[in-house]
Amino acid sequence: MSSRVAELRQANTELLRAKETAEQANTELLRAKETAESANRAKSEFLANMSHEIRTPMNAVLGFADLLYALVTERKQRHYLESIRSSGKSLLTLINDILDLSKIEAGKMQLEYEPVNLYSMINEIRHVFSLKMSEKGLEFIVDIAPDIPDSLLLDEVRLRQILFNLFGNAVKFTERGHIRLSVQKTYIENDKSSLDLSLFVEDTGIGIPSEALETIFDAFKQQDCQSTKRYGGTGLGLAITKRLVEMMDGAISAESGIGKGSRFEIVLHNVAVSATQAKSKKGEIFDEESILFEESVILIVDDIETNRDLVKAFFQDTNISTIEAESGEKALLLIRQYQPDAVLMDIRMPVMDGYEATKQIKEDEDIKDIPVIALTASGMKEDKEKIMHSKFDGFLIKPVKRSDLFRELSRFIRHSKKETLEKGSEISEKEGLLGDVSPETLEKVPEIIDKLENEFTPLWESVRNNNSMTDIQEFGDKMKSLGDEYALKAFQKFGDDLISQVRIFDIENIGATLESYPGLIEELRGLRV
Ligand code: ADP
Repeated sequence: MSSRVAELRQANTELLRAKETAEQANTELLRAKETAESANRAKSEFLANMSHEIRTPMNAVLGFADLLYALVTERKQRHYLESIRSSGKSLLTLINDILDLSKIEAGKMQLEYEPVNLYSMINEIRHVFSLKMSEKGLEFIVDIAPDIPDSLLLDEVRLRQILFNLFGNAVKFTERGHIRLSVQKTYIENDKSSLDLSLFVEDTGIGIPSEALETIFDAFKQQDCQSTKRYGGTGLGLAITKRLVEMMDGAISAESGIGKGSRFEIVLHNVAVSATQAKSKKGEIFDEESILFEESVILIVDDIETNRDLVKAFFQDTNISTIEAESGEKALLLIRQYQPDAVLMDIRMPVMDGYEATKQIKEDEDIKDIPVIALTASGMKEDKEKIMHSKFDGFLIKPVKRSDLFRELSRFIRHSKKETLEKGSEISEKEGLLGDVSPETLEKVPEIIDKLENEFTPLWESVRNNNSMTDIQEFGDKMKSLGDEYALKAFQKFGDDLISQVRIFDIENIGATLESYPGLIEELRGLRV
């Protein structure tokens, strides 16, 4: 009896010990998991910082290549510059993708929910891809369950990015047959206040082998046999898509087989039905060419000289003159001495950064009313919030575009507006939409019109009717090059606007920009007479 008791005790002790070991192993596992997670976050943060550190000098490279292009006439040199520009742009696309991915992984991408109309979003997709699809003879089938509510609370920009990625891949990898986009729903609340939404993108394309299906959502994975030359791409689209879907409380899965086509399914859980209607985003297009600033002085504060030079170049041919400071301390000295009309303040600078310099400006009675606009290379929400909570009067993200810079400055610097043609006002022939036109350009107007009519207008008609993003971007590039070639700012701006609108899939403004094309030709014709 007593030996059984002893046996039992021993068994008990061993059990306890085993439990302790298990608990210890568990704690160690948890600790290892935490270490791994924090290492992963650190890696993502490093990548996010790196990417934006690369973006800043890249912008100087591209910006100056653009400025140089306008000065160079020799064919070979122009050709070299074009290569710099196109490689620079590919690099920027890659960097932007990496930045997106690392921002998500570092937990720094925030979703912004607003009422969204799925019907119009799908319509946009139909328009955007219709040229490519009709070239390939593909059929677009849309299959939306009839009672999907008109207005759902979603992050419109990110959902669009997801659908464009999936749809873009489907079009890219399908040579014949169809692409089907279906939307279904299941109500999860009796009061129908929220639902689970399923979105399918299905194609009859080359398909994906089953072993590749497992890794398709990993970064930088493309099918082994896939020729990058033929299909292009960075291999980051699906990795970003998956993470975005997961941030939206959703899941993504794929079914496919070689030659059988592919079917991607996204399920978004708990999507709220919105009581307010999705609003149409017809933004007013700011026309920086029509702004005439009064004589004023602006202080550019940035520790990097090329950054200052680039901003300075934007003010050429305006009434704005600039002074420069490479540090916060120097900025304070110059502000007290010259009382500029506004300050463009870089954030990250050694010794005294932009936050501290601005704080001191705003604490000084004599200079506190001078507007200070933050100029930051960081698109991160945290920085944005910090800037919002500081005493800055305005805020611009690098790479800053001329139109954004002028729009922001027009809030603080006295200016008048040149009337535009549509208003039917009497404007001098050399102003209006085209801005100032130099005598050299004026001589070449017949040549430009000839080019526009024979090369550009047919292209414009086709992109306008078919709305393919790639073609629109190409049209934008061509217009910009034409603008560079003949020093026509309005054409450069037209190209710049279109290219950046394509990048954020800003469909409505793309439409508005495209519609402004005939006005430009009309005005050139006016110059010829
Ligand atoms: P990429 O920029 O290369 O398109 P993605 O992450 O979007 O990067 O896609 C990764 C790879 O998955 C693609 O390169 C392709 O090999 C494969 N893939 C994605 N969608 C499809 C599809 N609809 N049909 C066939 N292959 C696809």
